[in-house]
Formats: sequence, C-alpha cells, structure tokens
Amino acid sequence: MSFEYLGLSDNVLAAVSEAGYTEPTPIQKKTIPSTLQGRDILGIAQTGTGKTASFTLPMIDILSQGRARARMPRSLILEPTRELAAQVEESFDKYGINSKLTCALLIGGTDFKGQVQKLDKGVDVLIATPGRLLDHMERGNVMLTGVELLVVDEADRMLDMGFIPDIERICKMLPKKIQSLFFSATMPPGVKKLTDSFLKDPKEFEVSAPTTTAVTIEQKLVKFRGDDSLKRKVLRHLLDENDIKNAIIFCNRKKEVKIVNKSLNVHKYSSAELHGDLHQDTRMEVLAKFKKGETQILVASDVAARGLDIPDVGHVFNFDVPNIPEDYIHRIGRTGRAGKEGKSFTLSTQYDKKYLDALLKFLKKDIPLLELPENIVKESPKKNQKVNKVKKNYQKDDVKINSEEKVSNKGKKVIVGMGDHVPDFLTR
Ligand code: AMP
Repeated sequence: MSFEYLGLSDNVLAAVSEAGYTEPTPIQKKTIPSTLQGRDILGIAQTGTGKTASFTLPMIDILSQGRARARMPRSLILEPTRELAAQVEESFDKYGINSKLTCALLIGGTDFKGQVQKLDKGVDVLIATPGRLLDHMERGNVMLTGVELLVVDEADRMLDMGFIPDIERICKMLPKKIQSLFFSATMPPGVKKLTDSFLKDPKEFEVSAPTTTAVTIEQKLVKFRGDDSLKRKVLRHLLDENDIKNAIIFCNRKKEVKIVNKSLNVHKYSSAELHGDLHQDTRMEVLAKFKKGETQILVASDVAARGLDIPDVGHVFNFDVPNIPEDYIHRIGRTGRAGKEGKSFTLSTQYDKKYLDALLKFLKKDIPLLELPENIVKESPKKNQKVNKVKKNYQKDDVKINSEEKVSNKGKKVIVGMGDHVPDFLTR
C-alpha cells in the first residue's frame, strides 16, 4: 500500500517522497486516515516504528487552513525530553517543506527570550516539554485556549519521569473540544488513567507488543566474569571485530558513561558522551556530530535511549544489562530501524546477574550467547585474588583514567568496602 491511499494532500505526499519513503509503516497506515477524520487516537507504538511521521504528516494538512494568533498556538505537542522535542521540530521542517506552518520549540536549557519572541509572532505548532511550557504559561507568555489539536508522545516515559501531574494541569487549560492523539510504547495503569480521562472514544492501534524487538536486530549476549576494566577490554574487542559504521554504547550510570568514553578516547576511538549532566547546547552538538558521522561512537545514558532518531545506527552495545528491562527494547531499538539490519551486544558479568535474570524473564526468551576468545577473558580470579587482579587490570588497561582518578582523590582518605557510597564525614 502506498502513501497515496491515506488521504494526505499532494503537498505532504511530495515531501514524503522527497524524504525517500515509498511505503507507510504499519502505525502510519493505521493512524493517518483516522487522524485526518478528526478522531482521537491512542497509538501503542515504540520509537523506530515511524510514529513521529504518523502524527506530523496529518497535522500539516489539518493545520493548513487558518492562522495563528499571538501567544495562542493552534496545536500542542508534549514530549518528555528536549531531544525528542527537537526531533519533532526537525520532522516538521522535513515534512513541512511545502507548507507555511510555523513551529516553536519550548524546551529548557535554550534561549527563553527567543522562545517568547516566537510565541509573540503566533505559532501553528508548539512543541514543548511539560516543565518549560508551564513556566511560560505562568508568566503569561502563552495561552492554550486556541489549541485545536494535542499530541502527547511517549506517555509512559512521561509517567516514569513524573510528568503526569504536569500533563493533567496542562490538559485542564485546553479547550474542551479538541482532537487528542496519545502515543505510548506500553500502557501502565498511570497512562491508562490519563488516556481514559482525556480521550473521547479513541481509535486504538497497537503496532507491536511492548516486549518484542525488531526482527532485523541480531542480538548477542556476551557473558563473562570480571570487572568494569575487563568489560572495557571486551568492548574494544567487539568494536574491533565488527565492521562498525557507527554505534551507540549504553551504560546504566552517568559516571560509567564518562569513564567508558574517556577510555575509548585514550584508545584512539572516535567517541563522544551523551548524558543528562551536559548542557543542552552541548548535547545537541554531540548528537549533530554523531548524525553527520563526524563522531563514530556515542556513549550514552538512558536519558538518550528513548526516542532518539538517529537513522541507520549499525550497532548497539549495552555496557551493562539495563536495570529496567523495558530499557533494553528502547536501547536496542536504536538499530534495525525501518527495516534496516542492526546488531546488538549486551555485556553481562556476575554483577549484572540480577538484571539479566529480570531481563530474560521480561523477554520470555534467551538472547543467543557470543563466545569470546580465551585471550580476551581469562579465567576468573579466585576470591581472595580479586582485588589485586582488578587493580592490575585497571592499571594496565586504562593508565590515563587511573591517574586522573588518583589526582581527583588526592588528599582523601580511602575507605575500603563502600564502593562509591562513602559518606562525606568518613573521608574527612
Ligand atoms: P520514529 O519511530 O518516528 O522515531 O521513526 C523512525 C525512523 O523511521 C525515522 O528515521 C524516520 O525518518 C523513519 N521513517 C518514518 N516513516 C518512514 C517510512 N514510511 N519509510 C521509511 N522510513 C520511515
């Protein structure tokens, strides 16, 4: 089935063909005709399914008639993260080349004044994260009484991030008669409650069960005993052994993101880090360089895992098994998108066991094992040798990192056995 049968205008169809799409994805086939008919939509779909275009394409047509008034946007799209919001704006730029719609992006960390100026001129599409939108609303910069269409994207992510009360506040400020489109990868009770109260007789669509991963992703589990230093060695081995065009490496904690990235740089890999501690502009810059292929490897935390539209990522590495099983789907979903082939490798040591058990239970199937050559993972150390071995590996492997850590710890009393959780008073 081609795009022509969905009811989109010639302008939008021309933009779609310019984007290189020949066939709508299942979510697009299912939702676009109903959205164009003015129905409320509840779409259960994860990222990578083409869901952004499933709402941006019909919105361009719906909003093609009419004019925006100052401070009164005609449509509102709520996104959980700044990156996702920025991506939706890019979608409007791409698919809206033949239309005159105006967009504004209200996200934290970027120019507040510039956002106000845009709002003053009047916008057709307002794309916002909930916190920043409420901030502008409280200052009287924006009124929602002119909104005709609302999109709440990644509703389950909004729930995880504690945004549901904010969304409820925002929805109460909207006119009663509007068209609403909700998208979520899963339907936890908190999201169900929200959709039950805001959607009117919605058309419900589900494109894939939340525990399924794209069939085009070849998944491997790499199990061995050892510490993080050995994990970094295994990671380098996998990077060298595979034909990597570009890759994302996910770590559970920001601290690990920084260490892994530094280690890769020391070993002369082209990599950059992406996590919540970075300033918004830096995050955008890092992402842009990765998209352009100027950086080959992105080391990221889960903040970056959901929804990032980085087309054509060849490989995903889980430096640790994610502590939330659903995140596995979101992480590896960065590859194998839109029918392309991709590979994922999940590193798991004795320290990941708890999370690996939970993940396999969630997936209801095993991940095929990848054997490593013996020279990469040596015999596991005996219990009382562990500390020395760990130290030795660490020194050998990541000389620079180790010395930097030593410098930063200079003057601090070393407390053994508490890991990173040493209370301040003990080190004084
Ligand atoms: P999304 O699920 O919105 O994050 O989209 C995932 C990726 O699929 C993006 O890179 C889109 O540009 C791409 N995409 C969206 N619709 C189509 C389509 N009909 N055919 C091929 N690729 C598409």
